[in-house]
Amino acid sequence: MSLGAVAERLGISAERMERMLGRVVRSSDWPAPRLLRFDKAVSGIEAGTVVFDRDEIVYGYPKIRRAMMLEPAIRRHFSDGVLVEEKMNGHNVRVANVGGETVALTRGGFICPYSTEVARDQISPEIFADHPEIVLCGEMVGPKNPYVPKEVYPTESMDFYLFDVSRKGAREMEGSPATHALAEEYGMRSVRLFGEFGIEGAAAEIEEIIKDLGAQGREGVVIKDPANLLSPIKYTSSESNCRDLEFAFRYYNDYGLDFFFSRVVREGFQAVEWSEAEDEFQERCLRLGRSMLSSMRETVEAKMAGEPIVQEVEILVRDLQTAKDFEEHLRRMGVRAAFDPPRVSPGGHLVKIKRLVMSTNDKTESVIEGHLW
Ligand code: ATP
Ligand code: MG
Repeated sequence: MSLGAVAERLGISAERMERMLGRVVRSSDWPAPRLLRFDKAVSGIEAGTVVFDRDEIVYGYPKIRRAMMLEPAIRRHFSDGVLVEEKMNGHNVRVANVGGETVALTRGGFICPYSTEVARDQISPEIFADHPEIVLCGEMVGPKNPYVPKEVYPTESMDFYLFDVSRKGAREMEGSPATHALAEEYGMRSVRLFGEFGIEGAAAEIEEIIKDLGAQGREGVVIKDPANLLSPIKYTSSESNCRDLEFAFRYYNDYGLDFFFSRVVREGFQAVEWSEAEDEFQERCLRLGRSMLSSMRETVEAKMAGEPIVQEVEILVRDLQTAKDFEEHLRRMGVRAAFDPPRVSPGGHLVKIKRLVMSTNDKTESVIEGHLW
């Protein structure tokens, strides 16, 4: 591929592209097909943007900003009503057909061998035969999601849910109505669409939706412009924020401080916006406090009992080679993990993955041995 031609299509100068190569833009030969990957966002090109060998570009999925208070955010941000979709909690993939093969790209622009296998199993090849340029953006969710394992969805393994559609070479998403129409046409799962609401009533409707989703352990919503002219915004349930905290405090020293802080702040704004009665507020306080302390207590107790702190996930692969490739993929991402031998199971092979959480291990050990913080 000629670097100059690629730069031109991306709208940057050839010299700039040359300078970024090996730093912001990295090339990858594995897994096939060969590609160039944008590690960071530059000059309006989203991080995770990928350029394949035959100059096919798949742009990164745009960042979705967060509403902290629904009512004022909706009023400020939208003009003619909103569409409300469920925000599913898994990992973002962009699925495209490149040189006759379907591949699934992670948010960062890596081809994930495991997500690719799932995409090939679940997405009808017909859609790429009819629309070779299409890029299907969706969430991979379920208990066998090694990045974000969640038991709350109706699957035993990992399923793909479509939430946006784009095209190779295009930065734009085609919007919620087009996405749901396509999913319907090809019998694909898509995220739930709760409906369209006027600006006036939307915040109250969403409050009810969020409380309901939260009670089911689900994450939240993405609020979209029906005309697809304004960018979407996201909003999440207290239960989901707290579940994140519970998970993160188990490995408290391996997460950035902002992960914790941003979630606590969300609870503050939500408590005020929903002007909770004292008993509901007490419940929120308990939920928030418990989510942070209970898992951390378990971590310290486990370490005191001499157990290593590991993060355990499991994948379900059809082909054993996929598990080997996924191991290589994690190694490439800088994740230290041990793979157990595969076990035969309905639908393929189960492989347990134990990820070492070094920093939390070392810190906890040092504290219980009497070292100072
Ligand atoms: P971002 O950089 O977009 O803020 P993040 O990596 O912090 O994202 P999230 O907080 O999970 O991730 O929020 C955005 C992500 O939500 C999207 O990238 C997408 O993977 C996921 N998502 C789930 N459901 C939807 C939906 N209905 N519409 C759009 N995105 C959705
Ligand atoms: Mg997410």
